[in-house]
Amino acid sequence: MFKNQEFQLEITDIGDSGEGIGHFEGMAVFVNGTLPGDVILAGATKVKKKYAYARMIELIEPSAYRVESPCPISDKCGGCSLMSLSYEKQLEYKAKKVRDKLIRIGGFDERFLDSIAEPILGMTDPMRYRNKAQYPVGEDGNGRIITGFYAVHSHRIVAAEDCYIGDKSDADILSVIKKWMTKNDVSAYDETSGKGVVRHVLIRRGCASKEGSALATDVDENIQQILVCLIVNSNDLPYKESLISDLSRIQGMHSISININTRRDNVILGKVTKTLWGEDTIRDHSLGIGFNISPASFFQVNRRQTVKLYEKALSYASLTGKETVWDLYCGIGTISLFLAQKVKKVLGVEIVPEAIEDAKKNAKEGGFDNAFFMTGAAEEIIPAYYEGRISFGDADEVAGHEAGHPDVVVVDPPRKGCDEKLLATILSVGPDRIVYVSCDPATLARDLRILTDGGYELRKYCPCDMFPFSHHVETVVLMGKTVTRSKSHVDLGLDVEDYYKIKDAEKEQE
Ligand code: SAH
Repeated sequence: MFKNQEFQLEITDIGDSGEGIGHFEGMAVFVNGTLPGDVILAGATKVKKKYAYARMIELIEPSAYRVESPCPISDKCGGCSLMSLSYEKQLEYKAKKVRDKLIRIGGFDERFLDSIAEPILGMTDPMRYRNKAQYPVGEDGNGRIITGFYAVHSHRIVAAEDCYIGDKSDADILSVIKKWMTKNDVSAYDETSGKGVVRHVLIRRGCASKEGSALATDVDENIQQILVCLIVNSNDLPYKESLISDLSRIQGMHSISININTRRDNVILGKVTKTLWGEDTIRDHSLGIGFNISPASFFQVNRRQTVKLYEKALSYASLTGKETVWDLYCGIGTISLFLAQKVKKVLGVEIVPEAIEDAKKNAKEGGFDNAFFMTGAAEEIIPAYYEGRISFGDADEVAGHEAGHPDVVVVDPPRKGCDEKLLATILSVGPDRIVYVSCDPATLARDLRILTDGGYELRKYCPCDMFPFSHHVETVVLMGKTVTRSKSHVDLGLDVEDYYKIKDAEKEQE
């Protein structure tokens, strides 16, 4: 194959970033914007030894799974690579992606996986699920201010005011900001020169309780608290009064802030956030618990699926009320507080200080006296705590368990997965159960292999679709201590549930 060569290609699979994959002359060929079942005229753009990249010149025969994309810019925007794939097929692709990674990277047996895998948790209505969007701000060829999304594999902005997986009324907020920038000649940040002021607009929405109700369970999705944060390349915002005056009139506006980021890299948020108007945080509710959320804190973007994800994690934790649980990478304490209702105590560790402040406030306001939080990297805090070099403050006073001995450890790391130092400590600590919530199946598979080699076994897993239309997939996994055995349930021809019933009975007899 050579560059610019044109050839007919049938797409047979989907790659890790949602790109179509076909085979030509024994080479895997990756083509953005294509789907399994498409037959295309491809033009090679980059040819490597064993694989190549190509672009679609013509769609000769569309896949039976192709649907009309509800979003007018989905073929240009880098956000949703699966917008034209039927939702049913998206779910199938995501479940397969998790399975493939567990086999290829984790080294797990496929029959074993099929016997323990739970069906992927999908959405009934997958549109407009996001409660958060980060719009880059720039200028078009005529010097007009635009907001939008980055194009595939680039930082070129595809202009857009509405995102079909986000909230429709983001457009009103963006329109106010663009008008204000134009009127006052406030510039957009330019990545090449490092000059200009406004880099991104972060919009987040929480769902408040129904009017007159203080109950966290009484949520009304239509009553919103909106947070707008302008990420700026300066220490202050010029002409901020007029922006505040216009933005604060938008119904539901609750918090207006700037985040200062004068760095030249791709990281969106800087370290300092200043509230310009309203509260520092907005509130949202999940599973009957209220949460305060700062601009810099992580909060799940899909509130309808979050409930399913956390309920799955809770069911895997099999709690009786007596347990000590560690919730590592805890964010604002969402999983921690959900579990705190069912256990003796929860210790949460998280690296972002604002998130820990939110977590502590959330625990206090929710009346939880058994949830404790500490700021720091899990891979540093946990070894130090286990080795007795630091204490968890008041948490260690809660009787019932020795410090450093959790019954259940929950980890919910970012895409890069858990640090090896942390996994090694978890193995030394030896909790009965490990619940791993993952947003990247490749690093999940890598970490599960380390835990398996260290004496744990995979008991169950369940993929969950937190991000419809994108290639991302979340997975909840239950691991338990390895049952000493000579033969696996596959060898014995047993269903996995029966297998563990027998094993548990054997253990009890011992
Ligand atoms: N469990 C939470 C947050 C999960 S997102 C929830 O469901 O809401 C992952 C979190 O890990 C983020 O809040 C991120 O700030 C945090 N994080 C990233 N690296 C970390 C590290 N090394 N140690 C502890 N927390 C970390």
